[in-house]
Amino acid sequence: MHLSNRAQGVSPSATLATGQRAQALQAQGIDVINLSVGQPDYTTPQAIKDAAVAAIQADRVNGYTATEGVLPLRQAIAANLATLHDIHVAPQQVVVTTGAKMALYALFQVLLNPGDAVLLPAPYWVSYSEQVKLAGGQPIEVAPTDSLKVTPAQLAAAVTPTTRAIVLNSPQNPSGTTYTRAELRAIGEFAVAHDLVIVADEIYGELLYDTDQVAPSMLGISAAIDDHTVLINGVSKTYAMTGWRIGYAVANPTITQALKTLLSHMTGNPAAVSQAAATAALTGSQASVAEMKAGFKHRRDVIYPQLAALPGFRLTKPAGAFYFFPDVTAAMARKHVTTTADFVDLILNEAHVATVTGEAFGLPGHIRLSYATDLATLQAAVDRLRAFMSD
Ligand code: PMP
Ligand code: GLU
Repeated sequence: MHLSNRAQGVSPSATLATGQRAQALQAQGIDVINLSVGQPDYTTPQAIKDAAVAAIQADRVNGYTATEGVLPLRQAIAANLATLHDIHVAPQQVVVTTGAKMALYALFQVLLNPGDAVLLPAPYWVSYSEQVKLAGGQPIEVAPTDSLKVTPAQLAAAVTPTTRAIVLNSPQNPSGTTYTRAELRAIGEFAVAHDLVIVADEIYGELLYDTDQVAPSMLGISAAIDDHTVLINGVSKTYAMTGWRIGYAVANPTITQALKTLLSHMTGNPAAVSQAAATAALTGSQASVAEMKAGFKHRRDVIYPQLAALPGFRLTKPAGAFYFFPDVTAAMARKHVTTTADFVDLILNEAHVATVTGEAFGLPGHIRLSYATDLATLQAAVDRLRAFMSD
């Protein structure tokens, strides 16, 4: 059986694969604490579920919708951007997709020719590099500064005539690092000067903990930056709706049209019932968003100091998202392991805590732990790690 070079050249999602390994161990009766996959442990808020059930009962979600999503949802997305960021886009600039993951996948398909390069400031979310490769492009890792951010000077050193785009994720998965508006402007101006598309993944934008504000957006800084930016977002994280699979891209008309055409042959429309649910999420009361944010913040505040105090762990407090991304090089040395993947295996097999290797995010020597789980479970995981590191 021959598989395509494309299929053979791509690695499975490390986040999903580690989660599945943890589940397999759990199925064997081993008490594994799974801190690998990043998805809120909260249930989807009741009002959103009710809206979905009502849409089903009223026979409003039986048929195909427009590929780019129903107008009320695209209007709700535009209104949400206006409320949160004072950014004004037309619903025609919005394309709703089967999760933000599909928005990103389709975007690289419409942007890249074979050999085109995409700058990925490390650490970066696991799917970007594989999606770029699946589009025939070349992922170019850009090493970060100590604060896990990237500067225009570092980007300038990596840019070549084949560079087409840069992916900027803020707040960032896996480290929670969040760029200021001034930093975004500097990177945006750099991208405009080099005629690069900025893929601004802001899926954790509402999960920023030391403020009542949302994280600054790449959109709305200047007309030139807006024209070069594709905003990626979705309802998965903000509304605890990962399983509903609704994400979206906001872009200029040229990109929007190309995305719609491509998606018309790929997924067609995202599930109509999920679109109804997402519309309710964006237009209804936002009280549950604030409650969930407060819950994540509390967990971060309780667990962070304990994790930072573990022998050989070094990390700064994450500003947003729901992950810790400690530098564990000293811990690896204490345990006499040389690769981060081996360290993650050791933790899984001996401490029974599932984490994700930093190698998958372009930054070995680190591991990712999700704190999108209840505090008692997180506390038990840290206790296990403390015992493991004291051995
Ligand atoms: N971007 C980032 C940075 C992510 O962590 C994720 C993971 N859920 C996604 C995009 C995709 O999210 P979804 O497909 O659930 O909308
Ligand atoms: N994005 C989440 C994560 O990083 C969900 C899993 C995935 O889609 O990769 O864990």
